[in-house]
Amino acid sequence: MVRFEISIDHSRCSDPLGCGICLKICPTAVFVARPSQMFKFRETPGALYRIKPLYASMCTGCMECAVKCPAGAVRVERSNVR
Ligand code: SF4
Ligand code: SF4
Repeated sequence: MVRFEISIDHSRCSDPLGCGICLKICPTAVFVARPSQMFKFRETPGALYRIKPLYASMCTGCMECAVKCPAGAVRVERSNVR
């Protein structure tokens, strides 16, 4: 069975909500944007959101996210799972 390991270099992805290309482009909706911190009585600033490959098991390996990410922050690697 072929699976894909997806990693995000958060130091390169500085404005995940402003960009969001990987969120929109993935045909199987692998990615979500989640706040990395929560604050009492105020919203989390956009820069503190992080892209997570929450549904990585749905990845088909099309590589669109890695190719289209303007920051080169997405890596998709094939991993063989028995
Ligand atoms: S390689 Fe394709 S299917 Fe997999 S996470 Fe990226 S855009 Fe989605
Ligand atoms: S496409 Fe790249 S820079 Fe844009 S939100 Fe996704 S990981 Fe961040």
